[in-house]
Amino acid sequence: MSASSYITLPPDLLPSDGRFGSGPSKIPTFFLEGLADTQDTLLGTSHRRPAVKDLVRVIRERLTELFQLPDGYEVALGNGGATLFWDMAVHSLIKSSSEHLVFGEFSSKFASAARQAPFIANVKEVKADYGSCPSIEEIEGVDTYALTHNETSTGVLAPLSRPQSADALVLVDATSAAGAVPVDPQVFDAYYFSPQKAFASEGGLWVALLSPQAVSRAVETVALGRYVPTMLDLSVAIENSRENQTYNTPAIATLYLMNAQLEWILSHGGLAWATQRSADSASILYRWADAATYAHPFVADPALRSPVIATIDFDENIDAKTIAATLRANGIVDTEPYRKLGRNQLRIALFPSIDPDDVEALTQCIDFIVGRL
Ligand SMILES: *Cc1c(COP(=O)(O)O)cnc(C)c1O
Repeated sequence: MSASSYITLPPDLLPSDGRFGSGPSKIPTFFLEGLADTQDTLLGTSHRRPAVKDLVRVIRERLTELFQLPDGYEVALGNGGATLFWDMAVHSLIKSSSEHLVFGEFSSKFASAARQAPFIANVKEVKADYGSCPSIEEIEGVDTYALTHNETSTGVLAPLSRPQSADALVLVDATSAAGAVPVDPQVFDAYYFSPQKAFASEGGLWVALLSPQAVSRAVETVALGRYVPTMLDLSVAIENSRENQTYNTPAIATLYLMNAQLEWILSHGGLAWATQRSADSASILYRWADAATYAHPFVADPALRSPVIATIDFDENIDAKTIAATLRANGIVDTEPYRKLGRNQLRIALFPSIDPDDVEALTQCIDFIVGRL
């Protein structure tokens, strides 16, 4: 540890909760206390019993309400996280030609999953430099467009739009955006995410909001006769979800925590409220970074700066690693940047669970540390 790790932050400067990680993210402590109380009714009981199926049903209903899903849209879920959903989309949704908007580590992983599939003839990547984002290039014959709402690796929130072609599906990786950013269900056919980001839960699950077109595509693609492993068959996942269960055993704690977050957000006013809370945190943080002489937002275009994941670059003469280590030594954790981005940067999550006052406190802690380096 460098000498600066011994800088002790004054207690009155510290945030009430020091968790600013981009995922797994802060889980409110009272959710965890509630979880401990479920041991007779949920945890350690069969996942096919009514209590667990009720939990899945309530999650599906609450997501429908939170996102105001139009009639005919369905909520499906299963094991494996957003990463599994990429492989599932490759097997069950893309017919033969996909286009991927690539502007960070996560969007590039989906594109490479598609490239590896022998039955997908064309995989087009439209790229932009990290820190910005590309736009859809409409190409005749593309049957699936893959967008990412919030690039968690770079802190870019991309605008979403639908191409003209009525037959093409629009798949949106919404991990880290879903639950903290407004979205119009008309622009997507699948809006999918893992719940360990804005939904303050654990990893392991994927959740997808599906349009009727996505549901019929899943059936149609499997009928093409290609080999689809059952875990990657979206039509099987949809059938199970309609029964309020997952194809194989889920982590009940993950479901419980996600439901707690849904209940908390809905009881305060729904997506508009959650969105405003993240936006408030973001305006505190970006205003501070704009004003600081030694720090500036990595994302140059203010319109693309994420309200959920802020990436802040530091001047060369200030080592962001030392700031992150010092924060960590004082109980403020997970402000390190996405490792592969390789910048002199802090990455700070602004999910709805995080109190805007704590973001304010964090900026003061950073100022305090920099003043003493
Ligand atoms: C975290 C994240 C993923 C990966 O989620 P897993 O649950 O680890 O599969 C994918 N896409 C985005 C945008 C993410 O932020």
